[in-house]
Amino acid sequence: MKSKPGKRFNYDTRILHEAGAKDPSTGALSVPIFNASTYAQDDVDKRQPFDYSRSGNPTRKALEDTLAALENGTNGYAFASGMAAISSALMAVLKQGDHLVIAQDIYGGTYRLVTKFLVKYGIKHTFVDTTNLQNIEKAILPETKVLFLETPSNPLLKITDVEGAVKIARSHKLISIIDNTFMSPYLFRPLDLGVDIVVHSATKFLGGHSDLIAGAVITATEELGHEVYTVQNTCGAVLGPNDSWLLMRGIKTLGARIKAQQESASQLAFRLREQKWVSKVYYPGLPNHPGHNIMADQADGFGAVLSIETDSLERASRIMKNVKIWSVAVSLGGVESILSYPAKMSHAAMPAEERLKAGITDNLIRLSPGLEDVTDLLDDLCGSAKG
Ligand SMILES: *Cc1c(COP(=O)(O)O)cnc(C)c1O
Repeated sequence: MKSKPGKRFNYDTRILHEAGAKDPSTGALSVPIFNASTYAQDDVDKRQPFDYSRSGNPTRKALEDTLAALENGTNGYAFASGMAAISSALMAVLKQGDHLVIAQDIYGGTYRLVTKFLVKYGIKHTFVDTTNLQNIEKAILPETKVLFLETPSNPLLKITDVEGAVKIARSHKLISIIDNTFMSPYLFRPLDLGVDIVVHSATKFLGGHSDLIAGAVITATEELGHEVYTVQNTCGAVLGPNDSWLLMRGIKTLGARIKAQQESASQLAFRLREQKWVSKVYYPGLPNHPGHNIMADQADGFGAVLSIETDSLERASRIMKNVKIWSVAVSLGGVESILSYPAKMSHAAMPAEERLKAGITDNLIRLSPGLEDVTDLLDDLCGSAKG
């Protein structure tokens, strides 16, 4: 057998040739879908790799090894959704009486998990604006166990200095967790900067085709991996073999997709900035974005999501009514362009006053360009805004 390519290969090559790239038993360039719940045991006294598919499934295992390889982690775990991944990661490291410091502009589902569920089990939290590292330091209590980050934030694309945040977490012996959904491992690998656990909604860029719901947890150490596995096997929110295969299929084109989508996001950001009806563009790739330099330092790109603020509510409504190529929908990271309206979608549950305080106005629109021609995408937005 040829030796497996290691880190000596470039990332684009690694996506296709590490871990779950090939079926080890036949050499097939696509791992089979093992629709099996149980596995015949030849000798009950001997452990075999698979015995029951909640505990392990060969298709899921191939995906999990791929996820670990792409994030430069030791262990990867695939879950039934991003929220299953996030809740399982938190359950793995928190216990009654613990406290977590968590980024303010966190994904809505994570906000609900922390504020509605974890508190029921005696786990407290403090939300902080993590773009200022001093806020993290100030919020740490003797019982703080976890620092939970998400960068860029949603929908205002605020940037946190991850290396600086990890330094603070380390000095207080906290476990750092980051939601890397918006960047994908192609552009950002936080474990390399000392983060302990990476979580993903694989529904977005990793899957990339708006055709499945999935989540991932990748750990920096075997020990943390074991803790996450215990929750996965105990609570059982595993990803099924069919979706595991579909996700692996999506990951094969991650590099090609992200590069094209990022290029479109960048072009849209620069060109929309020149439109009279656009009052603000939020994109870390713009040189005047407050997090631009940090992002340039810590990541391999600026991502493929941007937000714009229109000059009026009527304008925002007109765009949503008139667009023909963009789909008005929740979610992001798919090959078809998606336009979201945070005030009525992702942040609808937030009281209007708090939303405005956070900078999420009723004129704000989030854009996740897909693989369509960027001029068509721009024309669709501009025509709809004026039409
Ligand atoms: C979508 C999303 C989630 C939740 O993932 P699901 O797959 O929908 O459960 C978590 N974090 C971020 C940043 C997301 O965009």
